[in-house]
Amino acid sequence: MSNVLPGKALSDIEIEELLAKKALDRSMFRRLLPLLGPVRGRIFAVIGLELVLVVAVFLRPWFVRQLLDYGLVRHNGTWVLDITWVAVLGGGLGLTWVARFLLAGFSQYLAGSAAIQVLNQLRIRVFSHVQALSIGYFDRTKAGRIISRADRDVDSLEPLLIQGPPELLGALLRCIVASIMLWLISPLLFLGLASSVPLLFFATWAFKRISQRTWARVAENRSRFTAHLVETVAGARMIQQCVQEAPNRLRYRRLLDDFNNALIQGNLRSGWFAPFTGILTATGIALLLLLGGYGLAEGRMSVGQVAESLFYVMLFLGPLQELSELFERYATGSASAQRIFLLLDTHAQIVDDPSPLSLEQVRGDVHFDHVSFSYVPKGSPVIDGFDLHIPAGEVLAIVGPSGHGKSTLVQLLTRFYEVDSGAIRLDGIDIRQLTQQQLRRNVGVVLQENVLFSGTILDNLRLAAPQASDEQLIAAARELGADEVLERLPHAYQTEVGALGAHLSHGQRQLVCLVRAYLADPAVLVLDEATSAVDVHTERRIQRALRRLCEGRTAIIIAHRLATIRDADRIAVVRNGRLLELGDHTDLIRLQGVYAGLYRAHEQTTAPVAPNDKVIA
Ligand code: ADP
Repeated sequence: MSNVLPGKALSDIEIEELLAKKALDRSMFRRLLPLLGPVRGRIFAVIGLELVLVVAVFLRPWFVRQLLDYGLVRHNGTWVLDITWVAVLGGGLGLTWVARFLLAGFSQYLAGSAAIQVLNQLRIRVFSHVQALSIGYFDRTKAGRIISRADRDVDSLEPLLIQGPPELLGALLRCIVASIMLWLISPLLFLGLASSVPLLFFATWAFKRISQRTWARVAENRSRFTAHLVETVAGARMIQQCVQEAPNRLRYRRLLDDFNNALIQGNLRSGWFAPFTGILTATGIALLLLLGGYGLAEGRMSVGQVAESLFYVMLFLGPLQELSELFERYATGSASAQRIFLLLDTHAQIVDDPSPLSLEQVRGDVHFDHVSFSYVPKGSPVIDGFDLHIPAGEVLAIVGPSGHGKSTLVQLLTRFYEVDSGAIRLDGIDIRQLTQQQLRRNVGVVLQENVLFSGTILDNLRLAAPQASDEQLIAAARELGADEVLERLPHAYQTEVGALGAHLSHGQRQLVCLVRAYLADPAVLVLDEATSAVDVHTERRIQRALRRLCEGRTAIIIAHRLATIRDADRIAVVRNGRLLELGDHTDLIRLQGVYAGLYRAHEQTTAPVAPNDKVIA
C-alpha cells in the first residue's frame, strides 16, 4: 500500500475516510501472503483435506445412482431388492458422511491452530510497532482507534487468511468437477447452466466493487465508537466531575447510529447477492427437472441418472452461493488489512542515527543551542531561538507562565520531539547522534503526572534497576528519605499501586518516582515539579529527597515551589519560548525584571507555594 502517512495536514480520521473511499490496493495480498509462511504446512494439509472432501462429496451422487438403478432390480416380472448391493452402497454412502465429519473436524483444528499462530504474530508485530512510534503519533491518534486495529481488525483477517483459501479452492473444485459430470450426463443441461456464469461473474464484480467501499466505511465507523468508549473509560472521572454523562452518552449514541447506518447501507448494497445466486439455483433445478423429465419420458435417462444430475446441479450452483459469503469476508477482511497496514506503514518520525556515537562516561553538560520548535509543521514556534548552557552538576530552575514552552524543552531534550532548527547537545554531542535509548538512560525525567504501572511499589522501583534485590530497592528509598511515607502504606513496599498508580496519593506517587529516578541514576535529571499541594509532612520529605537526588548530577527543574527555586544554582525565566532572564536568585532580584516582580507578588501572599504561573502571565 502506498505510504499514506498521517501527520502533515490531514488528521487521522480524514486519512481513514480517504482510505475508505479508495479502491483496495492489490499489493496488499502480496503483503499478507508472507504472514502465512510459518503455517504453510498446515495450510497445505487443509487444502489436501479439502480435496479428499471433494472426492467424498462426488462419490455420493454415484452411490445414489447405483442404488436407484441397480439396488432394485426386476426379476421374473417383480421388483426385487438386491440386499447385498444395497448394503454395500449404503455402507459406502455412510462412509462418505463419516469421512466428512472426521476430516472436517481435523481440518478445522488445523486451520484454527494456524490462525492463532498467524494472528498472534501479527498482533505482536502491531504491538511492537505501536510501542516504537514517536510520541507525536499518539498526540494525533485516539487510543481506541489503535486498539481497534490491533484487536478487532486483526481478528477479522482470520476468515480471509486462513479459512478463505481452502474454502475457495473447495468451492471452485466442486464447481469444476460438477460441470464435467453434468457435461457427461447431458451437454444440454450443462450448457443451460453454464450460460448463467457470465451473469454471475458480472454480478460478482459489481458486488466486489460496492461491498469493499461500504465495508471499509463500516470498519471506520466501528473504530470511531470504540475510540469514544476508550476515551470515556480513561476520562470517567472527568466526565462525572463535569456532569457530562448525558451529552457523552448522546455522542456515543450518535456514533453508534452512524455505525448502524453504515452497516444497513452495507447490507442494502450487498444483500442482493445471496438472493441473486438463489434465483440461479432455482432456475438450474427447474431446468434439470424439465430436461430430466423429458429424458426420462423418452427413455434416454434413468431415474438414477436424473437423481445424480440433481446432485451435480446442486454441487455446481451451491459453491456459487458460498461465493457471496466468501466475498463478504474478503471485503471486511481486506478493509481491516488495509487499516492494519496503514498503521504498520506509519513510521516513527524520530529515528536513530544509523551510525550513532556512544557516550562512555556522561558528565551531564546540556546545551540548548539556538533551538526553535513548533508542534505543527510551519506553525508559530513554541520554542523560539532558545539558547541556554547548563554546565554539568548545576541545578537549574526554569520558571515562567503556563503554556510558554517549559515542558516542551523537556520533550525536546529527551527527543520525544525533534527540534526544527538549532541543536541540543549532551556533553557537546548533538543528541540526534546518540541512540534514543542511550539518551533516555542518561536523561531521567520525573513528570508532574507521574505514572506508575500496575504492580507493587517494589515492582515499580525495579523498572529502574531490574537486577536489584528487594533490599537494595528499599535501601535506595531509605537513602532518599522516602521510607517513612512508603512504609506507612498498608503493605509497605508490597502495596499494590493500582492501575496507573491510582491507589496512591499524589505525594506518594511522586516519592516512588523520585526513588525510581534515584535508582536509574541518570547524569541529567529533569523534574517537572508537581503543582498540586501535598501535606506538609510529605512536602518536606519530597524536598529532602529532591535535594539528595540532585546531588552529583545536572538537574533541570520546572519549578513551582519557592524552596526549589531558591535552592537552585541558577534560575531561567522562560516566556513565549524564549529565555528572558538568567541568573541566581540574588542576581535576578537585583535585575528588577520579571522574576523580581514575580517574587514580590509572592511575598505579598503568605502561601508556601512559589509564585504561580498566573502571576507571571
Ligand atoms: P508549559 O510547560 O510552559 O506550561 P508547554 O511546553 O506544555 O508549556 O506548552 C507550550 C505550548 O505548546 C502550548 O501552547 C501548548 O498548547 C502547546 N503544546 C504542548 N504540547 C503540545 C502537543 N503535544 N501538541 C501540540 N501542541 C502542544
